Amino acid sequence: MKFATKAIHEGQEADQQTGAMIPPIYMTSTYQQAAPGETKGYDYTRAGNPNFTNFEKALASIEAGNFATIFSSGLGAATAMMSTLSSGDHVIAVNDLYGGSYRLFTTVFQNYGIQYDFLPLIDETELKHAITEKTKLIWIESPTNPLLKIVDIQKIAKIAHEKGIRVLVDNTFATSYFQNPLKLGADIVLHSTTKYIGGHSDIVGGALICNDRELKELLDLKRMSIGLNPSPFDVWLAHRGLKTLAVRMKQHQENALLIVDFLKDHPMVEKIYYPALETHENHAVAAKQMSGFSGIISVVFKKSLDEMKDMISSYKLFSLAESLGGIESLVDHPASMTHASIPKSEREKIGLSDGLVRFSVGIEDGNDLIDDIKSVL
Ligand SMILES: *Cc1c(COP(=O)(O)O)cnc(C)c1O
Repeated sequence: MKFATKAIHEGQEADQQTGAMIPPIYMTSTYQQAAPGETKGYDYTRAGNPNFTNFEKALASIEAGNFATIFSSGLGAATAMMSTLSSGDHVIAVNDLYGGSYRLFTTVFQNYGIQYDFLPLIDETELKHAITEKTKLIWIESPTNPLLKIVDIQKIAKIAHEKGIRVLVDNTFATSYFQNPLKLGADIVLHSTTKYIGGHSDIVGGALICNDRELKELLDLKRMSIGLNPSPFDVWLAHRGLKTLAVRMKQHQENALLIVDFLKDHPMVEKIYYPALETHENHAVAAKQMSGFSGIISVVFKKSLDEMKDMISSYKLFSLAESLGGIESLVDHPASMTHASIPKSEREKIGLSDGLVRFSVGIEDGNDLIDDIKSVL
C-alpha cells in the first residue's frame, strides 16, 4: 500500500460492536476487569488506550517503522527518549535545533548529568572527534528549525552505528510524507504531531517511531511512569488530521514553491532559505534523502529590525504566531518567539540572525498568499 492509502486505512477498522466507521473516542481513565488482572489489553489510560493503539499503528505504517509510541507533545516524546539515558551519558545534537528541545536538554536533562555537544553535523571529522565512549545518542533535525539546514542522515547513521550509537531524527518539518529516516538508517524518528500530522493547529502531541521492540516497550514504560500520555480526544483529532496529510503536504509544498519563486529575486530580500533551491548549501543532500521540501521558508529581508517587526505584524493571511504545519499560514520571528530560549550568542554562532523571518506556508490559495506578501513588502 502507498502512503495516502495507509494514512487513511491503517488503525481505522470499523467499530466491531456498532459498525461505526470511525472508532469512537475512548474518553475513559480506567477499564473494567473480569477478574483481578484480567483485562482486554487496557487497564488505565496513562498506560494505554484504544485511540493510542490505532494512531500508533497508522504512524508506524506511514513512517515505514514497526512500532510507534505517542505522547502528550513533541517535547513529551523527547523527554521519554532522554529518560532512557543515564547520568554521565553523552548526546551529540545538531546545533540548529528546535528551541524547546534545546531548552529541555540544557535546563532539564543537563541537571541529571547528561552531557551535550551541539555540532553542525556536516563535517565528519568534527563529529568523529566529538564521539566519546559515553556517547549514546545523536540527535538530528533535518531540515532544521528555523534555518532549514540539511543533515545527511545516511552518513551520520553509518558513523554512529560503527560505534554502537543510536540516531534519532526529528522529522517534524519534512513529515513521513517527504522523508523516512528509518529507511536511511536512523533508529528512532520523532514527530511533533502538533504540526503537520495534526495539521489543524488544534492539538498538541508527539510520537516516537522505531523498529526495535525492546526500545518500544521501554518507551511505553517511560510514558506510563512519567505520565507523558496524551488525551484520547487529542489523539482522535490528530489521527483525523493524519488522514489528509498527503494532500495537505502536496499543497503546502506547491504554495511554498510559488512564494519562493516570487521572493528569490526580490530586491527587498537579502537571503532566502528553502532546501529546494539549488543555491541552498545542502540542496544535493536534500534532493537525495527527501522526496519533497515541505512548506517552511525562512527569509532575511533588507529591512531594519523595527521595519521587519512592523511588516510581520501587518499580514492579513499570515498570522503572527509560534508553531507551524497547520492549514493556515503563519509567520514567526524566531529570535524573539520560537527560539528565544537559545541565548543570542548561540543563535549568532549558527547564523540565526535577529532579522530572520520564518513562514509556515498554509494551504490557502497560493495567489492570495503572494498578494499578502506583496502588499506588505
Ligand atoms: C514544535 C516542535 C517540537 C516540539 O513539539 P511540541 O509538540 O510543541 O512539544 C519539536 N521539534 C520540532 C522540530 C518542532 O517544530
